[in-house]
Amino acid sequence: MPLYSYHCADCDKDSELLVRSDDKIVCPACGGEKMERLPSWLAPDLKSDKIRKSWRAAAARGGDLSNFSTSERNSFKK
Ligand SMILES: [Zn+2]
Repeated sequence: MPLYSYHCADCDKDSELLVRSDDKIVCPACGGEKMERLPSWLAPDLKSDKIRKSWRAAAARGGDLSNFSTSERNSFKK
């Protein structure tokens, strides 16, 4: 299944969703159906940034910073 990035017009959040052709797209954050697919040329930067943020958030929550360089650790230790 392809992974697409969507923007929700209801709650203004971006989400990455695995989409089957017969799926109705709903926002995982608010359940809204006003999902706009983001242009594919935008996806790589958006994804890497979002993924890095989610990794950092998960690592910070778990206290496991071993996957990050020293500069990266400092960047989210505030
Ligand atoms: Zn939403």
